[in-house]
Amino acid sequence: MIIAQKFGGTSVGDADRIANVANRIKMYYDQGHSLVVVVSAMGHTTDHLIDLALKVNPNPSKREMDMLLSTGEQVSIAVLAMALERIQVPAISFTGGQVNILTDEKHSDARIQEIDASVLLKAMKEKKVCIVAGFQGVDKEGNITTLGRGGSDTTAVALAVAVKADECEIYTDVDGVYTTDPNKVPTAKKIERISYEEMLELARLGAGVLHSRSVELASKYGVVIHVRSSFNNSTGTLVMPEEKVMEKVLVRGVTLKSDEARMSAMDIPDRPGLAANLFGRLAQANVNVDMIVQSGGKNSLNTISFTLPESAVTNAKTIVEAFLKETGGTMELDQNISILSAVGVGMKSHSGVAASMFQALAKQNINIDMISTSEIKISVVVKKDQGKKALEAVHEAFGLGQS
Ligand code: ADP
Ligand code: ASP
Ligand code: MG
Repeated sequence: MIIAQKFGGTSVGDADRIANVANRIKMYYDQGHSLVVVVSAMGHTTDHLIDLALKVNPNPSKREMDMLLSTGEQVSIAVLAMALERIQVPAISFTGGQVNILTDEKHSDARIQEIDASVLLKAMKEKKVCIVAGFQGVDKEGNITTLGRGGSDTTAVALAVAVKADECEIYTDVDGVYTTDPNKVPTAKKIERISYEEMLELARLGAGVLHSRSVELASKYGVVIHVRSSFNNSTGTLVMPEEKVMEKVLVRGVTLKSDEARMSAMDIPDRPGLAANLFGRLAQANVNVDMIVQSGGKNSLNTISFTLPESAVTNAKTIVEAFLKETGGTMELDQNISILSAVGVGMKSHSGVAASMFQALAKQNINIDMISTSEIKISVVVKKDQGKKALEAVHEAFGLGQS
């Protein structure tokens, strides 16, 4: 079999853990499998590199930032290959560029466009374990790009597709995908099987266990992802096509995102074209707007509120202020928010899920500031300091915790 495996930062966090990963790889290699192994930077390396960059220049260019951040993974691939050499497993390490992971030019958030698997297939034919740096690629000019935080998951799935792997395993520091972050809510339960659609929504809404683009790719190419722990041998979670029984569960998981802000353009004229104008400008500046609520006020004036990543606030502020100069009105910014979401394919065929969620929050006296729904999710904005309490209440209300 051809197996693609990915080991995250904690799993390769120090020399002992790297030896542990090498032993696991050896076990598969000795069984006769061909392996493509993707690794992340060791421990918190990427965070430390970002800190370093910001000390040198608070506003570094994205090209140089990618050049710097990609070095974290380059350390991991080399040391893992050395650890394998030591236990007589033939291995060879590759950067993203060396295995032709071609991306667009969008530094810090690049998308993989194409992979030419010939280098990997040749090394596998020579019975070598291929160790590939996650999170990185090159654009058509040869500049190093990175895929966004957590992007090694996406490298793993993309390589699984490219080499036509039979299995794709993502090894991390928890033993699967849980009903919510088990490090935040200890009663969270492990999910045995989850549909692509649910996992994609959870990942986008803040479940950091998988990079959302990895789920997008897996869904597109039908790759089943096995999320499991690098510290034990237990079966983890299968991320896979939806099965009929999955619809019986109303809420599969709950997420809390706390790095968001809410911005409002208040008392703007109520006339056609204004929303298009405002959001057109924001889109042009690559500001990723999430929830949008418009409410009519008195005297034909409207208020439009939206949520956006905290990191985009400075940029968005300038845009909204310029917009309000032309239309009249005032801006309000609230950085004290969290977005709580409940996700489940069962919502498609059941009603009353939103009401149950609101009741659970009301019982805890938690105020809801904004609401948005889609076919399989409900999101609400609450005050940041009430986020954890809200998460626990909703998790409990849908019976997701262990009794
Ligand atoms: P890696 O370095 O292996 O990629 P990450 O830190 O990116 O690891 O992802 C694993 C972490 O994701 C867990 O330690 C956990 O705190 C967090 N997490 C958030 N939501 C979930 C969830 N629903 N299920 C499991 N883990 C989650
Ligand atoms: N090292 C990168 C990060 O910390 C990529 C990854 O771990 O997936 O975001
Ligand atoms: Mg990760």
